[in-house]
Amino acid sequence: VDLAARLAGIVGAAHVLTDPDLVASYQTDWTRRWRGHARLVVRPADTGQVAACVAACAEAGAPIVPQGGNTGLVGGGVPLHGEVLLSLTRCDRLEPVDTLTGQVTAGAGATLTQVRAHVRAAGYDLGVDIAARDSATVGGVLATNAGGARVLRYGTTRRQVLGVEAVLADGTVVGRLDGLVKDNVGYDLAQLLVGSEGTLAVLTRARLSLFPLLPVRAVALVAVDGTAAAQTVFGGLVEQLDTLRAAEFFHADGLDLVCHTTGMRPPFDQPCPTYLLVECAARAGHGTDLSDALAAALATADGVRDAVVSTDGAGREALWAYRERHTESINAAGVPVKLDVAVPPRALAQAERDIRAAVAAVAPAATVILFGHLAEGNLHVNVLGATDQADPVADAVLRAVAAHQGSISAEHGVGRAKVGWVHLSRSPAEIAAMRAVKRALDPAGLFNPGVLLPPEPHR
Ligand SMILES: Cc1cc2nc3c(=O)[nH]c(=O)nc-3n(C[C@H](O)[C@H](O)[C@H](O)COP(=O)(O)OP(=O)(O)OC[C@H]3O[C@@H](n4cnc5c(N)ncnc54)[C@H](O)[C@@H]3O)c2cc1C
Repeated sequence: VDLAARLAGIVGAAHVLTDPDLVASYQTDWTRRWRGHARLVVRPADTGQVAACVAACAEAGAPIVPQGGNTGLVGGGVPLHGEVLLSLTRCDRLEPVDTLTGQVTAGAGATLTQVRAHVRAAGYDLGVDIAARDSATVGGVLATNAGGARVLRYGTTRRQVLGVEAVLADGTVVGRLDGLVKDNVGYDLAQLLVGSEGTLAVLTRARLSLFPLLPVRAVALVAVDGTAAAQTVFGGLVEQLDTLRAAEFFHADGLDLVCHTTGMRPPFDQPCPTYLLVECAARAGHGTDLSDALAAALATADGVRDAVVSTDGAGREALWAYRERHTESINAAGVPVKLDVAVPPRALAQAERDIRAAVAAVAPAATVILFGHLAEGNLHVNVLGATDQADPVADAVLRAVAAHQGSISAEHGVGRAKVGWVHLSRSPAEIAAMRAVKRALDPAGLFNPGVLLPPEPHR
């Protein structure tokens, strides 16, 4: 029996796709930079079906690319060379919220928006939040250890994961979903799989820690003279406010592009070089008025050129849109070379200058848009007009970041986009240890070949 027929026997013929029109959207990434072809797409509905599909592919020697919402930005979730595309989106079951512990078990295919709506009904919120929330799935978010706008308060996805269920390369199901906060029995498999980008196992369910819903919110957009000034303002706010939940920044060029693409009006009459967006959040019944507290803190913070504060839902969303619509506006302007990096915050302003100079040296006509998450020194580097020089641009930018003791991948992962530069952020011994883990869990190299680890040197 051929593989397609075998898989159809497991998931039903309707969930094995081979028609090029139906397969197309699974083969191209969100940025359109990564395009390939899948042998077929298979859409299992539960853990048992995932396990049987993986076992069948292992027996047939057919490599697998696991995919969730396909919003990843490093080319890690698209099949490039005829792999089987294992789509997890049907594995989206949500179990009841455990209100005693503030935890939930979610299927890998559930989107962040679905999980958030589910837990909100019980008075909880998810710690992780990203602009791709309507499509990004629990499995993809765990596999990439996604960061996003609330890392300042809740940490990256890793901190919110208490356990996972996963299918190993031979089709075995492993994992724990009991949610024990204290459970020190050997290696932490769940944490090993978080951030493994689909190279070690297929995640099927996750046990997540939740946070109390914070319905009282205030958002401010602050105009400043540059990145260093944004950091000064942020430092002043941290000293005065214990409700801060987000601190994002972008520059005038990015704001112009967003306004041009979306038709939004600029936020201030006078343009400024840089903009800081901050959000405060608190429980219902929070004593002080959040917007008053935020406005008062901004009034005394050094470096504020102009500021607008909003507490009502529509006003907050409008301010957030200036930041969150960067990614789609950049995509609308062309196919970007995207590099997501982090540097120590003290080096952030200098790193930005070095990155712009590095790109100018190899692609003088390219446009560089920088924005990101201020507190973590996390910069999203977007280079437009340089797709034919993607590798030299990546090399120049990532070397500039490494020179500041930064990370070549802050939150998006390595994927295929940065495989050639892992050595800039990890030592040969660390890479060898990662390879040993990969070989132990996936000896045949079934999962996501070519993602995360550089090709094996000759042994
Ligand atoms: C507009 C926009 C904004 C974004 N903002 C942020 C941000 O602020 N912070 C951030 O960190 N990211 C951000 N991203 C990137 C992206 O949304 C995240 O990487 C997200 O975690 C990917 O989820 P997904 O379900 O789409 O995964 P996919 O794109 O489908 O896959 C991503 C990787 O995970 C693997 N994978 C997926 N599901 C599984 C599974 N069940 N088991 C094993 N491996 C799996 C894939 O093989 C691939 O390597 C943004 C993307 C967009 C388009």
